[in-house]
Amino acid sequence: MESLRTRLARITHLNQAAAVLEWDMETHMPAGGAEARSQQVATLRSLAHELLVSDKTTTLLEAAGPVSELDADLIRVVRRDIEKASRVPSSLIAAMAEAAGRAKGAWQEARSTDTFSTFAPHLERIVDLCIQHAEALGYEDQPYDALLDQYEEGATTRQVSEVFEEVRSQLVPFAKEMGKTGVACEGPLHREYPEDAQWAFGLKMAERIGYDMNRGRQDVSAHPFSTSFSISDVRITTRLEKRFFNPAFFGTLHEAGHAIYEQGIDPALEGTPLADGTSLGMHESQSRMWENLVGRSLPFWEYAFPQAQEAFPAALQGVSLDDFYRAINAVSPSTIRVEADEVTYNLHIMLRFELEQQMIAGKVAVSDLPREWNDRMEAWLGVRPLNDAEGVLQDIHWSLGAIGYFPTYALGNLMSVQLFDAAYAALPDLDDHIRHGDFSALLSWLRENVHQWGRRRTASQILTASTGADVSAGPWMAYLRRKYEAMASR
Ligand code: ZN
Repeated sequence: MESLRTRLARITHLNQAAAVLEWDMETHMPAGGAEARSQQVATLRSLAHELLVSDKTTTLLEAAGPVSELDADLIRVVRRDIEKASRVPSSLIAAMAEAAGRAKGAWQEARSTDTFSTFAPHLERIVDLCIQHAEALGYEDQPYDALLDQYEEGATTRQVSEVFEEVRSQLVPFAKEMGKTGVACEGPLHREYPEDAQWAFGLKMAERIGYDMNRGRQDVSAHPFSTSFSISDVRITTRLEKRFFNPAFFGTLHEAGHAIYEQGIDPALEGTPLADGTSLGMHESQSRMWENLVGRSLPFWEYAFPQAQEAFPAALQGVSLDDFYRAINAVSPSTIRVEADEVTYNLHIMLRFELEQQMIAGKVAVSDLPREWNDRMEAWLGVRPLNDAEGVLQDIHWSLGAIGYFPTYALGNLMSVQLFDAAYAALPDLDDHIRHGDFSALLSWLRENVHQWGRRRTASQILTASTGADVSAGPWMAYLRRKYEAMASR
């Protein structure tokens, strides 16, 4: 076990060092450094990969005598990682990296000039390689299963389709109704919010909910993210808009939610591949919980609004708590995913999930994608993109070869409510705690039930153990109805 752990620590250190370089790339590096930096990161990542799939690691795994449950979990997960990694030939990985490198540039050009045809041949190539990737990885039912499994282990297309279908059938009419009533006005959010005050207020609240700044740090980047270099160094980034409150504040809570998860992993897992979030869906459940279930709740703002008024006197003096609460919960269907509200967001994801599946199954040709996209957008959200730049070309994911990734966003939203409901049942005074700015009971519940496990348990195991059920649609829909009915009757 000792030799195996030493070996795994070296692999982990290489990956963590690569993560530092990637973080620097997005936050501090001058643009000219990009070429050399990509090579440095690729070198470290491929060294880590070679060490992992080497005969030496396999020999150590076979010889290891596990003495604890943790050891047994470690051996099981590493075996599975190696098994999966060795199914995909390195020529395919190289082809994918090359195709994605070209596709990203083509996507940027296509988006800025609104010409889908510039991107289409690259997307065709990516879809083709993803199908090959799925065949290499293997699957029981359909190729998309293998792609999904890379990001959400154990999830299947059939299971996700069923859950999403249940959500969609209720959500489409609900979102239309909400969009029509227009109960909310976003006005107070589009005023002068000085950037330094946004920075300070966001960080103060992130710390308050449990982001440990002794083991954390925030920087600015164009696309906010969180990243972990060890359990004791988990960083976040944010972006600031002078005349819009939401991006920095809710972005900071979101990324802090991801970081709080990583900071809460059992320190005994440090230096092993277990010291990571268990799936992208579970990760997103943590960011969404702090961003939406806490951060867009009335109890939270009963606590935070007086401080927000103090931090942003020009924007918020004369605004009532009620108006502010309605503003941050405004529902207005739009064509852009990253600007979507809490209600309509999942529809954007389900649209992508359906199209991805059909592309991989050969049922939708890339050339038909813009029309298929726009038709669904109109049917589900009641809005039609004016052009492909604000339609099918809006996201970077497909250009990176990340097909199967999108569903984890919606799964995370669903899981966040299932977990929050379970925490609520265990902590009946939770609203009162939050109203007084005390998040420690919720944080402890999450530490105990979710965070500490790292990759020792799958998302499905964590959900089932702590909520009694696997991922499902009902709790999330019920939460939305509760929330918006209460708001309408205020
Ligand atoms: Zn996220």
